[in-house]
Amino acid sequence: MILIRDKRIKPPKYLVDILRFRDQLSYVRLENGYVKIGALATPWDLSQSILHRDERFAGFRDVWSKFGTMSLRFMATIGGNIATATDFSDYLVLLHVYNASVRLRGVNGERVVPLEKLILERRKPDLKPGEIITEVLFPEPPVGASSAFEKFDRRSILVAGLANSASYIQLEGKRIIDVRISLDTTGLNRIPGRLRELEDYLKGREFSAELIEKAVEEVIPRSVAKYSDWWASGEYRLEMTKVSVKRSLLKACKRLGVV
Ligand SMILES: Cc1cc2nc3c(=O)[nH]c(=O)nc-3n(C[C@H](O)[C@H](O)[C@H](O)COP(=O)(O)OP(=O)(O)OC[C@H]3O[C@@H](n4cnc5c(N)ncnc54)[C@H](O)[C@@H]3O)c2cc1C
Repeated sequence: MILIRDKRIKPPKYLVDILRFRDQLSYVRLENGYVKIGALATPWDLSQSILHRDERFAGFRDVWSKFGTMSLRFMATIGGNIATATDFSDYLVLLHVYNASVRLRGVNGERVVPLEKLILERRKPDLKPGEIITEVLFPEPPVGASSAFEKFDRRSILVAGLANSASYIQLEGKRIIDVRISLDTTGLNRIPGRLRELEDYLKGREFSAELIEKAVEEVIPRSVAKYSDWWASGEYRLEMTKVSVKRSLLKACKRLGVV
């Protein structure tokens, strides 16, 4: 609405209210080795599900605790969060570390698209005319995995975040079996994305706070670019991104009992 008001996008010709499908599309299910979330599930719906009870999904609790206002947590939908497709879409940042995909349905049938392929550019998901997101799905994480989400700004809530990150880590003892890290944006395109160079650096090594410190300091400055605006400089955003990634990795490891 704000974008229409400010004439940054054209008003749509038709407005379709999909909330009438809320009963059918507000679920969270574990099914055939996948976590499946109906596109109309709200942060509140997620908070009432296994996603807030099981440490393998701990990052969902983190997103909830920083998400907008209390009333928004009952109204915002996960499908809308993804379709908004910006660096401010917190669930989108988190879902990247779960290797999530979306199920799209339209008049010509159904398709499943990985999140990394869905977002073509900022505010531009690859949705065909008449197509909507009906479900978000990702493989159920193994035991020994956990996640964390960090959102940093000058205030703690009701902010978009200057440096947001999510981490997913799977350990065997202290050995890093799998690690995935995502940022609100890794470049100037301002869409969430994975930090694969950092993931490759960490995979297979023994976890320690020193390793995280060294890896982040070495890899992030050469693989991340941050924009400057009236709110903060690119240098500041980059510095805080390092802090955010270190914190989210350490928090996920703490949840696995190794810090
Ligand atoms: C005050 C305020 C604070 C906010 N704080 C946060 C925050 O902390 N974190 C955060 O991530 N976001 C935040 N937001 C942004 C927004 O509320 C959320 O991203 C929310 O999840 C969007 O979902 P929605 O259902 O309201 O989508 P809408 O705003 O209704 O829709 C957004 C876009 O997605 C499309 N869309 C919606 N659902 C679907 C679907 N199922 N399939 C295809 N397209 C669809 C719509 O057509 C529209 O283009 C905030 C917004 C406000 C106004």
